Amino acid sequence: MNTIAKDIRLGRILISDGAWGTYLYEKGLLPGECPELWNLDRPDDVLDIARSYIDAGSDVIETNSFGANAFKLKSYGLEAKVKDINIAAAAISRKAAGQGKRVLGSMGPTGKIMMMGDVTTEELYNAFREQAISLREGGADALVIETMSDLDEAVIAVRACKENTSAEVICTMTFEKTADDAFHSMMGITPAQMTTGLIEAGVDIIGANCGTGIKNMIGIVKEIRTISADIPVLIHANAGAPIYQDGKTVFPETPLQMAGYLDVLIDAGANIIGGCCGTTPEHIRVIADLIKKRYQLT
Ligand SMILES: [Zn+2]
Repeated sequence: MNTIAKDIRLGRILISDGAWGTYLYEKGLLPGECPELWNLDRPDDVLDIARSYIDAGSDVIETNSFGANAFKLKSYGLEAKVKDINIAAAAISRKAAGQGKRVLGSMGPTGKIMMMGDVTTEELYNAFREQAISLREGGADALVIETMSDLDEAVIAVRACKENTSAEVICTMTFEKTADDAFHSMMGITPAQMTTGLIEAGVDIIGANCGTGIKNMIGIVKEIRTISADIPVLIHANAGAPIYQDGKTVFPETPLQMAGYLDVLIDAGANIIGGCCGTTPEHIRVIADLIKKRYQLT
């Protein structure tokens, strides 16, 4: 099989998956419970999520390993299980994907802030290396570092993946729109700064995830394209900006509303499209149908 980047350079638009976190809560994950422990304790439920995205038409799916780094797992007393949890996460998605679709091993931020002296570069690097190697061992084709807001942490994660595995490495950051219509991560990084920094670090694919909906992703992709015309771009948008309603967080955008922005997003330069918080297999089904009809003619 081609690499993902090669497929994109051949002109393909690829469909990714939707939310994992919000889906796990729907399946009964309790607040305060470790989502990634489900890979060991409730593998069938995790497999069910992975399968539902493959059935919806995803070309690539993620793994239930977003918070499965040593720092995050330590807060549940599970730091000794990093390897087992990541291997299981990748194996579950591999089982759902079969040999024809690709598995992206999900890696989120550690929650430690380097600027505050919480953690050293070496400690971060080692945590990402351990997670990356375990995800590959479980069968992940590529690694996706996501929801990053600190460029320094993102660069360390990319290096840890590139230097210790042969996997393609994807890295996406989360941006908010500011009052002056610009985009910044929580730590003040712009999409242009991300693009320069991550390409220098050797990333294969970049992009944005989470945030306040697919419409804002258009401006983010345009800004990425001012720095690089050819780096493949992945977008995982939330189903709109979260609203707090009747005691819980709701993501209001329907599948059709999201799909309404696809042409402009692809025109701006996005190559892989899926969803983040609040998106469901139904969102992915509608997006996949449209992409297959208009962009995957061969
Ligand atoms: Zn999200």
